[in-house]
Formats: sequence, structure tokens, C-alpha cells
Amino acid sequence: MAEMDTEAGMLTAITHAHVFDGERVIDDQIVVIDGAHIHAVGGVVPAGATVIDARGATLMPGLIDAHVHTDMDGLHDALLFGVTTELEMMGYWTDQERKEVAERDDIADVRSPGMGITPPGGHPTEYMPDSNDERMRDYAFPFVSTPDEAARRIAALVAEGADYIKIFMEDGTALGIPGLPVLSNETLLAAVREAHRYGKMAIAHTTTAAATQQVITAGVDGLAHVFIDPPRTPELVAAIAASGVFVTPCLTLNSSVMGNNGSALAADQRVRSRLSKKWLDSLCCSMNTYPQGSLGDVFATVVALHEAGVDILAGTDVSEPLPNLGGLAHGASLHHELQLLVAAGLTPIEALRAATATPARRFGLTDRGRIAPGARADLLLIDGDPMTNITDSLSICGIWRRGVRLTTC
Ligand SMILES: [Zn+2]
Repeated sequence: MAEMDTEAGMLTAITHAHVFDGERVIDDQIVVIDGAHIHAVGGVVPAGATVIDARGATLMPGLIDAHVHTDMDGLHDALLFGVTTELEMMGYWTDQERKEVAERDDIADVRSPGMGITPPGGHPTEYMPDSNDERMRDYAFPFVSTPDEAARRIAALVAEGADYIKIFMEDGTALGIPGLPVLSNETLLAAVREAHRYGKMAIAHTTTAAATQQVITAGVDGLAHVFIDPPRTPELVAAIAASGVFVTPCLTLNSSVMGNNGSALAADQRVRSRLSKKWLDSLCCSMNTYPQGSLGDVFATVVALHEAGVDILAGTDVSEPLPNLGGLAHGASLHHELQLLVAAGLTPIEALRAATATPARRFGLTDRGRIAPGARADLLLIDGDPMTNITDSLSICGIWRRGVRLTTC
């Protein structure tokens, strides 16, 4: 008995919660955490457990933002909003930094492809002369011009710890700077083939319908954006669905490129209280690089893809607090993305799935994105019911990263 008591003393039981397990709302209202993991779902409160009465609240898996460019500060802000994992779509992490992220419980976890595959002068290097990111200054962008260079580059990225491979196919049309150099189709095919040879997903950046069709044909595994130029054809939607790729539409980004800023979000006390002035200022800007675009059209594309069975992932493309990258903030914008997915036509539960179980499944993160015995205790407690009212997701009253409760939220 003495031994059981000692063990039970380490347990935390969250009781009377409305539980969204990453896929659906379940009947069980008790979730027991043991150290870094979920010990039990349902059953009775173990003797000696610390009890948190969550009456009136909703417990869900920690959120996953499936498109960011981040650093330690970004991971810190993300966690303040219950985003327990950020999936980077280009960036740079040393082994030492990756180790530090894995061990710290006051910042979100991260996965990254390292730098992306792009030709000399290709996207996103047009942003870099203005970048305040010190790491970019220390790291020459590894441009790729030929299939052989793609193969060598991908071997190096894998050796540096890339979790997947990011390939840019961006001619600048939807960024208001048409004429950017893009990879040849031969180099694109080589990049996809090499990624797969190492067992890594090939994830493409495309923002036009034509480039989307091209990367689908090349056999990529995921689209880090949805195309935003018209027209959307049923053939393209069917080709995307048939290919089995996931799509991260980044609606918050698209809203910003179409001239909408994030001031409403920045004015929300639940957001204001968690962000620094530089991020609030940046959130109040918009990119406005494609004002001729229609967010309504993009919403219709997302719904068409969703109805065709395509996995939709919630992602923001948040990066740095700069006016030309504005309208976004780490953590906060994922909640905006949930709101926009619902505005597009997904149900709140479908939107929440897109930020929990679906990205975990697509990225092979088998230890998270679900509330189930044995899963990592990455958890978010919400005061309210985001399954009924998605904006409740910002009413955060508890965040656990690997079983450690964040005390500053
Ligand atoms: Zn991006």
C-alpha cells in the first residue's frame, strides 16, 4: 500500500471535463496524468491523486500548428496559446538547439525540415535581405539548380536531422512579384525521389493552381499552402484528393495577403495579455501582396478539398514580427486559423481535428495529438466549449507540456 501511495502521489486527475480526444467528444470525463504521459482516460480518480475539477471546461490535446517558421521565442509564445508542437516549414536548428527544445517544458516542441529546396534567387530569399533573423546571416542559403545538387542537398539535410523535406515551387504570382525563378521539373522530380529514398515526406510550397498540379504529378506528400489563384477546377480538386496529399491552407496568411490585418485578434484581451508589443504591432499589419484575391474563393476551395476527403491541417505560416510578414503571431494565429476554418465551412470539431489528431497522424507523431492512455500529456484546458463556439478556444485555463503545467498562462 505504501508503494501505491507514493506512486499515486505523482498523479493528477482532471475531472468533470468535457473531453475532445483529438477525433471526437468522448463520454469519459476523467483524464489522469502520470508524469509526462496520460495514464488513464475514464475510470475512477486514483487514491492520492491531485484533483483538478474542470467542471464547465473542455480538455483537448495540445494544439499543433502545421506551418510555422520559428525560434526559441516563437516556441515560447506558441506554448502560451496551448500550441504544444510547431511544425516548421523551413528554418535552421542545430543539434544542440533541438536537444534543448526536447528537454524544456516552457516552450513548444518543434519539427523541422531545415532549409528548403529552392533555386538561386528563388522564394523565399526575396524576403531575406530585410530579415532580422540572425541565423540567416550565419547560414548561406543552400540553392539548388540541378537534380544532382538536389540529391546532395537532401543528403546533407537528412544528415543534419531534417524531419521532412520542403520544396519551394513559387513563381511569385500570388506574392505580387511575378517572375521569381523556380526549380526545373527535372529537379523537382529528383527532390521528391530523394526525399522518399530517405523515408522523408516531400512537402511542397505552391500558391497557384498550375504549380499545385505540377507538384501533385511529381508525387509530393503534402501541400504547405492551398492555391489562391482562380479558377478552381473540379479536375484539380479530384487530382489532389486522388494523390492522398494533405493540405495546410494557411487561411490566416491568405487573409493577410489579401489585405486583412489581425487587429481584431490583437484587441482581444485573451491575446493582448500574452503577446509583446512588437508582436501585437505586427499582428495589426497585413501583407496585402495579393489584394485582388478572394478569401471566399479560398474558403470554397478548402471546403471542396475537405468534401473530397483531403486531410486539412491547421497552419498559420507565422514567422517574424515584421510589417511585411504581418497579420500573424505565434500561437494566437492558430486560434485565428481555427476560426477561419469554421468560417470556411468546417464544423468546429473538424477544425479542432485539423489542429490535433490529423497533423499528428500525417507527420507520424504517434505520441501526441490524441487524449489516450500512453500518449504524451500535451493538454489544453479551455473555459467553455469550442466544439459549440470555436472562439472559446482562446479562453485558456490550463496548458500542460509533457505533463508539466505551464504556470504563466
Ligand atoms: Zn512558410
